[in-house]
Amino acid sequence: MKLIAGNWKMNLTPSQTSEYIKAFLPLVEGIEDREVLLCPPFTSLCVAQEALKGSRVKLGAQNCHYEEKGAFTGEVSLDMLKELGVSYVIVGHSERRWLFGEPDELINKKITACLHKGIRPILCVGEKLEEREAGLTFKVIETQIRLALSGIEEYTDKIDIAYEPVWAIGSGNPASPEDAQLVHAFIKELLSQINPRHEGKTRVLYGGSVNTSNAGSFMAMRDIDGLLVGGASLNPETFSQIVKCF
Ligand code: PEP
Repeated sequence: MKLIAGNWKMNLTPSQTSEYIKAFLPLVEGIEDREVLLCPPFTSLCVAQEALKGSRVKLGAQNCHYEEKGAFTGEVSLDMLKELGVSYVIVGHSERRWLFGEPDELINKKITACLHKGIRPILCVGEKLEEREAGLTFKVIETQIRLALSGIEEYTDKIDIAYEPVWAIGSGNPASPEDAQLVHAFIKELLSQINPRHEGKTRVLYGGSVNTSNAGSFMAMRDIDGLLVGGASLNPETFSQIVKCF
């Protein structure tokens, strides 16, 4: 099933989250042929869990720590997230990689921990502008995926991947659907190489300046299995239109 996910980043307080979900649920009611996921900040998860009760909309987190518990000030464990109804975690978002210095080894530990806990990770990968201009897009994507899945290659079917070119995130300058399609097809081929038993259950989402006007053209591409939407997911009306774009 296709997956349309909203990454709210550091936006919306708990009370704004309640209002959002109250407005959003009627707009997506009856949609059963695609999965819809909201990823609010940690502080809104509790309120969101309550507000989403009885709906098909899933709850995700934007980050996690890989240890079960302990002296990790400011971090949040997967058990804590599970208790709040979280079934997906975004791992390795470019803002985590480049603003907070998350290396591939840390991303690998987080993905591994998610798999142990039965939470589906959404691994984000993407090239920077200078890498694209140097013709390194496929090499960068391959390296990020191989390192993220190091030692857990047999579990490729238990993760989703978001292809998010760094230069397209929050820039108003999305990749073209055709260029994204090429990268998505490459990622799927790579997964089959990494895991000879790969069954193709990994969804490859596109993210980067998706809006109501371009969402449909991304979803029309053969290997684009969903969308990871940042800015345009902050308004319930707008996000519901993206959910319904195909
Ligand atoms: C994101 O944060 O994952 C993202 C794709 O952001 P935006 O849609 O705002 O470009």
